[in-house]
Amino acid sequence: MDKHPPWIITLLLVATVNSTPAMSDSSFNVIASFSVIEDLVERVAGDTIRVNTIVPADKDVHRWELTPPNVLAVEEADIVFYNGYGLEPWMRHVEAMSDDTLTLIALAENADYAPLPISTGQYKDNPDPHMWMDPKGAAAYIDVIAHTLSQHYPEKAEAFNTRAAKARDALAMLDQQLKERLDGIPQTNRVLYTSEAGMAYFARAYNFEYAAIWGVNHETLGSAHAMETMSKRLIEKRPPALFHESTAPSIHMDALARDAELTLSGPLYVDALSASDGPAYNYPAMLQHNANLLHEALGGAREE
Ligand SMILES: [Zn+2]
Repeated sequence: MDKHPPWIITLLLVATVNSTPAMSDSSFNVIASFSVIEDLVERVAGDTIRVNTIVPADKDVHRWELTPPNVLAVEEADIVFYNGYGLEPWMRHVEAMSDDTLTLIALAENADYAPLPISTGQYKDNPDPHMWMDPKGAAAYIDVIAHTLSQHYPEKAEAFNTRAAKARDALAMLDQQLKERLDGIPQTNRVLYTSEAGMAYFARAYNFEYAAIWGVNHETLGSAHAMETMSKRLIEKRPPALFHESTAPSIHMDALARDAELTLSGPLYVDALSASDGPAYNYPAMLQHNANLLHEALGGAREE
């Protein structure tokens, strides 16, 4: 532990004194950076491998600080699956702790899925990290997860690959369901304006015009310039509704909506699943909830 910066050693001591980490029957320890990745890893890993998650459901993945239990979990882990492309700025602390026994895998950066550039704000033109918002992006994550787990735990490779194939089929079916649901929204109403630009991949997959006030949640939120740009856009476009997300403050969108006399709808789930009793309790439920919310707010056709 001598190689660790002093703050990590302090956190480890606090963790050792204050918490009794759950012991797993399994000798494999896998970490997911946040709730969406936890869901995808569990689909491939099955229930024989314990998945520990750093940022819990309902919390913003961008703005997080490692807790003492997080640090202890990283110390015990074999693999950390994270998104990458700057989604988790706090991963630099995990990187500072890593040694030869810990494998760090950035799913988005290793996925066979073309990134889009961030459309606005401080990180404009960097690769947009939110690839999981398209089920095809999530399927590309599944491939990386299956490959990594199979390399680490070859005795279980067949089970991982079987589950990964099943997960890919389920994602293809989800994609089809979302398409059918969203096709019920008239083309002129397919306008998706949110607080954070986290839905570009979703907008591309399902044919929405897309814009957001800021690029990613860890930049300065809602600067005067960004608010003015969106305000001008609203005057021009007059969309049926505006949207906010579960893990970003809604005050900025709320102010714009009141100013332009437009309806504010939400929350959309992007950077976190909800708690298990919420509407986005797993990955498919998250996207289905978002599709239903958009369908309702943007004047989708009523079912027969
Ligand atoms: Zn985000």
